[in-house]
Amino acid sequence: MLAWMTAPVAPTHPTHSRALHLLSTIWGYPAFRGVQESIVEQVVGGGNALVLMPTGGGKSLCYQLPSLLREGVGIVVSPLIALMKDQVDTLRQLGVRAAFLNSTLSGPEAFRVEQQMQSGELDLLYVAPERLLLPRMLELLSGAPIALFAVDEAHCVSQWGHDFRPEYQGLSILPERFANIPRVALTATADDRTRADIKSVLHLWDAPEFISSFDRPNIQYRVALKESPKSQLLDFIRTEHASDAGIVYCMSRKSVEETAKWLAAQGLDALPYHAGLSPQQRSETQERFLNEEGVIVAATVAFGMGIDKPNVRFVAHLDLPKSMEGYYQETGRAGRDGLPSTAWMVYGLQDVVNVRRMLAQSDAPEDVKRAEAGKLDALLTYCETASCRRQVILAYFGETLAEPCGNCDTCLNPPQSRDLTREAQMALSAAVRTGNRFGSVHLTDVLLGKQTEKVLALGHHQLPTFGVGASHDEKMWRSVIRQLISLGYLNADDHFGLSATPKARALLRGETRLMLREDTLLPREKTLKKRDRAGRAPVSDQDAPLFGALRAWRLERARALAVPPYVIFTDATLKLIAELRPSSHATLGTVSGIGQRKLADYGDEVLQVVRGYASGAPAAIRPGPGPDEAGARHNNAVLERLKHKSAAPVPALLDPPEHAEPNSEVEEALRELRRELSRESGHSAFVVYPNATMTALATRQPRTLDELRGVPGLGEKRIVAYGERILDAINTVLDG
Ligand code: ADP
Ligand code: ZN
Repeated sequence: MLAWMTAPVAPTHPTHSRALHLLSTIWGYPAFRGVQESIVEQVVGGGNALVLMPTGGGKSLCYQLPSLLREGVGIVVSPLIALMKDQVDTLRQLGVRAAFLNSTLSGPEAFRVEQQMQSGELDLLYVAPERLLLPRMLELLSGAPIALFAVDEAHCVSQWGHDFRPEYQGLSILPERFANIPRVALTATADDRTRADIKSVLHLWDAPEFISSFDRPNIQYRVALKESPKSQLLDFIRTEHASDAGIVYCMSRKSVEETAKWLAAQGLDALPYHAGLSPQQRSETQERFLNEEGVIVAATVAFGMGIDKPNVRFVAHLDLPKSMEGYYQETGRAGRDGLPSTAWMVYGLQDVVNVRRMLAQSDAPEDVKRAEAGKLDALLTYCETASCRRQVILAYFGETLAEPCGNCDTCLNPPQSRDLTREAQMALSAAVRTGNRFGSVHLTDVLLGKQTEKVLALGHHQLPTFGVGASHDEKMWRSVIRQLISLGYLNADDHFGLSATPKARALLRGETRLMLREDTLLPREKTLKKRDRAGRAPVSDQDAPLFGALRAWRLERARALAVPPYVIFTDATLKLIAELRPSSHATLGTVSGIGQRKLADYGDEVLQVVRGYASGAPAAIRPGPGPDEAGARHNNAVLERLKHKSAAPVPALLDPPEHAEPNSEVEEALRELRRELSRESGHSAFVVYPNATMTALATRQPRTLDELRGVPGLGEKRIVAYGERILDAINTVLDG
């Protein structure tokens, strides 16, 4: 398999070193991460595996690499059609022969892929589950050598989860029909029930489970007190994530729209996304988020599955998520590439009251309600905790983190907790004495001793609780009440009325004591030390300009290739380049994430960008086209010429001499070239370049890349893609 690369490896190499060899030559990674190595070994050896790894943990490698090492094609079942193209593009960039089969392909396209599979021209094939289950497809598979079956997002088999896909249950045909081909099931979310379902459908009862820690150390978790959420958000983005890509989750469609509008009005590149928008609008937003740098999407939870962008630098929550699972999944979309990222949330009294109330109102069966209440409690405990947030999260998922993490707000700036038993008793008794039916505003008025109209009308100024809390301010009381609701001492009814729960009794009687956090949430947020922020920037100030230049180069390159930027290099790789500042191919090749193919394709350009910065002056560099190897080589040649031009611009050349009549020989040559390009690219002739452009070219007769600029119909993309060949054609005719 993968003939161009495996050749130098002796066939007698043990699995281990063959795997390492591929890891470094193709992926450019010096080592496996955690359990990856054991998984690869297991699967290459023909065994099955169940893989549980968090988002960004490196699941893909666990089936991609074995597919290259085993005979036949690796079949990857994935529910996310939108992601398949990305993954295939990424693999092709590495020089791996990959393709996908799903409903986005035309009949002939799909047929071609099937042929490639049958004739052993593919290393990896991504297939939508419904497609895989078609009798015709199963027939084809029976006749082709298959390296393995990988079932990605395997939790989709389970009815217990949110992502249930009925087609996934049909996958039980794999163990039945292809019993001897290894099966790897992979997921980032699987509780015991889900795990059991996966094992049952895919017959993995005896398969080893590979579980890696669910910790995401590069994500900084923070929760701030909600005061003026939009300006807090803006402040957060501006001071810590200016020009970064991020997601802002909101509860309702309305607040999604408002938030996006507000951020855009403040000059940020923000877009809304929710299920109420047209499919076209949604896919445009998603495309822009994936293909451009620094786009912010304000979204409901509808924006999620399929967001595989590795350099999402922050995930913000303006409203409470529904559960800890939801929160962790949503925040997990930040920092897949392992670089510092932030999970930021604001939350306040109103959120707590709202979610508690919604739960109380729900007419779900009692046991479901109880389960949901339990999940909500866990989330509220997380929000209110005075200890390490990561420890709380991991404990919830059954993992123990021995030491506080040092990278969450409570670690970075420990809040004070204080014995607030007396204050809690005051607040509870205010609720009880006023009849367990008033909201927090009124209770606070009573505690502070405010003679409002409502207080006087109801005679609450005569209660013994009236004014007992006057030595604290309103903010303190709101915080105490919020924590009492969060912790289940107060309950919110349909009309936001608060009542003491049975749990409050012991507290009121003085039998238990209560430690609450003093609300330092907001001041802490504001005073988060410069050091903590600076330490979290992806690159140091010193390397930032080069990092920025590399990103700009990558973006242009990605545009020309019509792939998302991260398909070319991840931020993590660009960061390493910016720090290392390599001056040779050999040094550049040592960077993690640069394998042989990428070194060959992009080495020259990257080194040139770096050189520009080493000498202090940004290099004038223009990236180019070509979705294939030939394209890359050709592109380098184009770049060379563009470079020479920009080094010594000759003004006269920018204004080519105008010929009155089109040269018919040139026109004919260009027509012939167009036929050729059309055959090569699969585009119709007029897509390559229109007749009018051909005539204009035959009239102007440009001789250099610069002269091509300004010819009607020749944009940057076409120049980059075809410029060189056009010039060759013209020069051949005119120079005889
Ligand atoms: P998952 O599918 O588990 O969310 P991916 O397979 O997309 O994660 O991998 C996440 C990131 O980690 C990718 O950028 C990938 O290239 C990188 N990665 C995976 N394995 C390694 C490794 N052994 N060394 C360095 N980077 C790795
Ligand atoms: Zn911590």
